[in-house]
Amino acid sequence: MPPASSQSLWAATAAAGPALAPLAAAQRADAAVIGAGYTGLSAALHLGAAGRSVVVLEAAAPGERASGLNGGQVIPGLKATPDELEERFGSERGARLVAAAGAGPDLVFDLIRRHDIDCDARRSGWIQPATSEAALRQLAAGAAQWLRRGAAVEMLTARAVADLTGSQRYYGGLLDRRGGTIQPLAYARGLAHAVLRGGGRIFVHSPAQRLSRAAREWRIDTPGGSVTAPTVIVATNAYSGPLIGALRRSIVTVPSFQVATTPLSPAARATILPGGQAASDTRHLLRYFRLDADGRLVLGARGTFGAEPGPGSCRYHYRAVRELFPQLDGVTFEYHWGGLVAMTRDHLPHLHELAPGLLAGLGYNGRGVAMATLMGRLLAQRALGMSDSELAFPVMPLRPIPFHGGARLAARVAIQYFRTLDLMTRTCGRLRGGTP
Ligand SMILES: Cc1cc2nc3c(=O)[nH]c(=O)nc-3n(C[C@H](O)[C@H](O)[C@H](O)COP(=O)(O)OP(=O)(O)OC[C@H]3O[C@@H](n4cnc5c(N)ncnc54)[C@H](O)[C@@H]3O)c2cc1C
Repeated sequence: MPPASSQSLWAATAAAGPALAPLAAAQRADAAVIGAGYTGLSAALHLGAAGRSVVVLEAAAPGERASGLNGGQVIPGLKATPDELEERFGSERGARLVAAAGAGPDLVFDLIRRHDIDCDARRSGWIQPATSEAALRQLAAGAAQWLRRGAAVEMLTARAVADLTGSQRYYGGLLDRRGGTIQPLAYARGLAHAVLRGGGRIFVHSPAQRLSRAAREWRIDTPGGSVTAPTVIVATNAYSGPLIGALRRSIVTVPSFQVATTPLSPAARATILPGGQAASDTRHLLRYFRLDADGRLVLGARGTFGAEPGPGSCRYHYRAVRELFPQLDGVTFEYHWGGLVAMTRDHLPHLHELAPGLLAGLGYNGRGVAMATLMGRLLAQRALGMSDSELAFPVMPLRPIPFHGGARLAARVAIQYFRTLDLMTRTCGRLRGGTP
């Protein structure tokens, strides 16, 4: 597994986070949150806004793992289409789930505005370019379902995708105007500041090592002190450790690496994402790209198991940049970094009630900027007493993946399989004389 790198573009360009200390004494609160990424910070923020006292325990620092390492693409909805979700969860619950997931970016951009978070937020839309005609047809079917629900989405021709992205390699695509981009670490740090302003307490370098229950209260032990609270929210996602083994075994973690170029020349900038959208294509092992505030191209794709992101392990990413944007021939790369993405077997985020007063939310399948922020609010709502039937997302039973070690091996095999499938799609496209 690659360790989380603090040498990301985002770490180099975000304003410093709040000055925080490790836990050094016993604390009490209405709620304790384990993990200070988007899930934990959003939960703490919403609990604080409801007048609850909150302590957040973070093993590293706010946003130092996935929430400060990601692509900063604010993506509406889930991987399943609205109709699929309504079929699975029933028309009433399914419709609420679809509406909540579709409005995830509203929540993100609203929190940024209300808490005055300086994180280069741009709501210029999210593009899903299609890598095959079949993928384009699937996108069109999903877009029709969103349009019936009044969402601001539209299908794009291959020409329009080329104009908006600067890449000639796509068959067309979807533009979802609900999405956008943020500086992800700055957003996480801004949420942390907002939690503190709301009266919350955050302790850094304070890993929760033991969780126990006595007299209707939970107790969390860290190396420097303990916290007792009637409610605990576990928000450790892909970085879940042995604290609750079954939680860790309910997800499969997959590495994703990103590279950032030096700032593009004005001429290249005029052709690549001139409208400032984010893009994630439809490949099985998707490629996602955007510009940062200084005009660097940031491209992400699957990472290598066991290797740290760096010039040696990011050859695939350089090739992807050259393939998609031949106009950038010779461009130099300034940053390489990566992190872990938590995948679930059903591709849905999971909200669990592990025991009375013990909640967990995780598994955003690469869409956590909006979904983890939303999950934090759902966890807070549940902690405040909202019933399962009132919540937009259902409380799900915890289902550890059988033979979890095997599942991780299977993830490696699946990555190889999808790589082959993506290669075949591209080759067939060429044989048919298609765009890519
Ligand atoms: C490279 C990469 C690119 C991505 N790109 C995108 C994207 O463009 N758009 C998108 O929507 N999503 C993206 N994602 C996914 C998104 O980043 C995550 O879904 C989201 O950040 C999850 O937030 P979180 O708070 O649940 O987890 P995290 O941010 O990982 O936070 C979990 C926290 O728990 C802490 N922790 C763990 N164990 C303990 C313990 N025992 N005690 C105390 N603290 C503990 C960790 O230190 C960590 O800070 C990407 C992910 C990666 C890795």
